[in-house]
Amino acid sequence: MAEDGKIHDVIVIGGGPAGLTAGVYAARAKLSVLVLEKALPGGQIATTNEIENYPGFKSIMGPDLAARMQEQAEAQGARLEMAEVTGLELVPGAERGTDGPKRVRTAAGDRLARAVIVATGSEPRKLDVPGEDRLRGLGVSYCATCDGAFFQDLDVVVVGGGDAAFQEGTFLSRYARKVTFVHRRDSFRAQPALVDKARRDPKIEFILNAVVEEVLGDRRVEAVRLRDLKTGRPWDIPAGGVFPYVGHEPNTRFLPPVVKLDAQQRMVAGEDTRTDAPGLFAAGDVRPKMLRQITTAVADGSTAAMAAEHYLTGTTTLSY
Ligand code: NAP
Repeated sequence: MAEDGKIHDVIVIGGGPAGLTAGVYAARAKLSVLVLEKALPGGQIATTNEIENYPGFKSIMGPDLAARMQEQAEAQGARLEMAEVTGLELVPGAERGTDGPKRVRTAAGDRLARAVIVATGSEPRKLDVPGEDRLRGLGVSYCATCDGAFFQDLDVVVVGGGDAAFQEGTFLSRYARKVTFVHRRDSFRAQPALVDKARRDPKIEFILNAVVEEVLGDRRVEAVRLRDLKTGRPWDIPAGGVFPYVGHEPNTRFLPPVVKLDAQQRMVAGEDTRTDAPGLFAAGDVRPKMLRQITTAVADGSTAAMAAEHYLTGTTTLSY
């Protein structure tokens, strides 16, 4: 595969809040920085409706915030390339204990860099029930922001009790006739402010202590089969749409086995974003952390860029 003829100082894999912030900070540190993004800059915020907890903005639409972050990174000198990363080689030395340039494999050819920041975030976890794959795009959707308008006056089911379920379920009630949350417990892990907003919405109902066992429908979603976790009783509820928000899986499958992952397949890296491999950093949802928010992702992006700069310049004091 063709290379672009350069050895960049830093390649950032992933153009979400962590990756774009790393782009801003690396560019401002006068490093040559290439940000690789497979689809839509902004990551999860590109498909999030309204954001009310990013400081500086009382309320901002996810795609608007994503566009602003991209614009700022490019204005500072980061180059953004749309290309899906398929592999990473810590060649020629890192796997053997020295730190040579790293080769990032993409659909558009290989790219080389002396330091790599992985900021690939995570993708929606599936329910893994019959009917889910077959009816994907036919009533099963993982993006209320993208698809909500197609569910005008329909009854829809939102699965999950986390921030994403509440944020996106509340958005869906603008279109849907009724939004039924199905959650496997009787309490929610979502922020209380989001839960309160949903509870005040007359279009939103809750079915608790239940799971989705099957998505039913011939040519599109017509109903959902539930199971009551207390009684074991199965029953069907009519639904024109199903939105699973049951968590996210980190995007780490392209990494070589030498990169350490934890039991959740997240890259092993602490607050300083450094991994065991010299010159390889992990920022945002791709690494273990206590709180997964835009604020914590951008914090990681800035830390990773500075850690990469210290690595490249041989600076050992890591006090930012
Ligand atoms: P999450 O916080 O992990 O919540 C996932 C939800 O799905 C939980 O309620 C969980 O139930 C449920 N669940 C998991 N597996 C299930 C299964 N197999 N069947 C049924 N239910 C299942 O995930 P998320 O909402 O996607 O959020 C991911 C991260 O992004 C979080 O850290 C979140 O705070 C952050 N986020 C923040 C915002 C915001 O600040 N506005 C918005 C979106 C996301 P249990 O509770 O019983 O485990």
